[in-house]
Amino acid sequence: MNKLPDRNEKFSEWYDIVTEDAEVIDKRYPLKGMLVWKPYGFKVLKLTMRILEELLEAYGHEEAYFPMLVPEKIFAKEKDFLEGFSGETFVVERTISKKLEQRLLLRPTSETVMYYMFNIWITSYRDLPLKIYQTVNVFRYETEQTKPIIRVREIVRFNEAHTVHRTYEEAEQQIKEAITIYSTFFNSLLIPHIILKTPPWDTFAGAEYNFDFFTVMPDRKAIEIGSVINLGQKFARAFDIKFQDVDGAWKYVYQTCYGVSERVVGVLLSIHGDSRGLILPPNVAPIQLVIVPIPHEKMQDEILKYAKAIAERLKQYGYRVKLDDRPELTPGSKFYWWELRGVPLRIEIGEKETKENKVTLCRRDLLRRLTVAEAELKDTIDKLFKEISEELYRRAKNWLESNIILCKSIEEAAKKYSELGGGILKLPWCGDDSCGLSIEEKLGLNGLGHNPEEKAEGNCVICGKEARHYFYLGKRY
Ligand SMILES: [Zn+2]
Repeated sequence: MNKLPDRNEKFSEWYDIVTEDAEVIDKRYPLKGMLVWKPYGFKVLKLTMRILEELLEAYGHEEAYFPMLVPEKIFAKEKDFLEGFSGETFVVERTISKKLEQRLLLRPTSETVMYYMFNIWITSYRDLPLKIYQTVNVFRYETEQTKPIIRVREIVRFNEAHTVHRTYEEAEQQIKEAITIYSTFFNSLLIPHIILKTPPWDTFAGAEYNFDFFTVMPDRKAIEIGSVINLGQKFARAFDIKFQDVDGAWKYVYQTCYGVSERVVGVLLSIHGDSRGLILPPNVAPIQLVIVPIPHEKMQDEILKYAKAIAERLKQYGYRVKLDDRPELTPGSKFYWWELRGVPLRIEIGEKETKENKVTLCRRDLLRRLTVAEAELKDTIDKLFKEISEELYRRAKNWLESNIILCKSIEEAAKKYSELGGGILKLPWCGDDSCGLSIEEKLGLNGLGHNPEEKAEGNCVICGKEARHYFYLGKRY
C-alpha cells in the first residue's frame, strides 16, 4: 500500500497509485495500453455505462451488436476515414499457421461495419429514422504515451450511437438531442463540462463537423470526454445508403454518430478524488454504504447482530451495502480501506449505537459524522447522497470555472497560462481558419474549438477584425 501523493500537486502519480490501490485496474498484464479491470473498478464502469444506455433508450435508441473484425475493402470505402484511422488501426493477416484470404481490421470505431449493413437495411423512408447503439471494445494503436483508462490501446467500453435520417434538418435536430443526452449523462456523473465545435482542421475523419465535450483534469489539462458528430452524406455516398422518399425519388440519407468511452470513468475518478483516495458519486459507487462495527469487549455479539440487521434492512431499501466484519482488521484500517475506495457513506456501529438503536454516519467527501436514530436512517441516507452529489459537483464546477481564462491578446494569454500552469484559454477570434491556426502556433497549445452560442466581444487577436467567437485552447490529453 503506497501513501498517496497530493492529488493536484502530483496528479499523475496520484492517479497511477489510486487506480491500482483502490482496485479499479491492474496494470501488470504485459501488453502496453491493455488493462485488466478488477471487479470493483469494472462495477463502476458498468454502473456508469448503464446510465448512458438508459438515457439513449429513453430517447429512442436501440441496442445492437456488430462484429469486431472489418474486411479492409469495406473499411477503405470512405477515404477521409481511412486516412484518419490508418495509423492506429490493427490488422489481422493470419492465423498462427495460415495466411488469411483477406486482411481484416480490428474496429477502431464501427462506422464502416454498421454502414455496410445500413445499406442493406434501409430502402424506404419508412425505415427512418434509425437510431442504434452498442457498447463494445474497440482498438486503437496509440503512439502517444498511454495512460491507464484515459489513453489505452484497447478501449474496453466504447458506447457508440449511430443514427440515420431523411433530411439534413432532422440530422441537425439529432445532434441537438445527442448533446442533451451527453450533457445529462455527464451531469449525472457530476462532471461539469464545456461543449465546443471542433476546429475544421481537427474534425473527425469523414465528418461535416463535430462537437466535443471537455472538462479540466487536476493537472489543469483539458480532456475530451465525448464527441457528437454530424456525418452529413459522406458515408451515405461511400456506402451507397439510399432510401425511396415519399415522392418516389431515391435519396442519400443523412447520418450522425456520437461516442463516449471508459475515459469518462478515468475522469470521474480524477476530478472527485482527494488525497485519501477516490470519492465516488453515490449513483455509480459499487458499494454505497459500508458498515464498520466498532468492537467492544462485552457487547461484541450484540453489536455484530445489530450491524447485520442494519445491513439487511439497507439492502431491502435497495442500497448497495457491505458489512465489513473482518475480525483481523481494526476499525481504523477499515476506515482507511474504504476511504481509499471512495465509498460515499460509512456507517459506524458501536456500543452506544447498539444500545440506543442508532447509527453513526460518516460522509466521505467532508469526513463529517452524524448520529441518527434507526427510524430516520433511510431519509437521512437519501438526503446525504443528494448533499454529497451536490458537494462533489460544486467542487468540480469551481475547479472548471477557475481554469477557464478569458484573454484579450496573445501576450496576456501566454502570461496567464504560465502563471496558472495550465487551464483552458479563450481568446476573441474572427473565425478564420488561418487566424485559429496562428493562435495555436503562437501559444503552442491545442485549439479545442468554439461555442457557437456564445457571443464574443473584442477583436480577433491575430487580424484585429471583429471577433465572431472565442477560440478555446489548452493542452489536451
Ligand atoms: Zn482573425
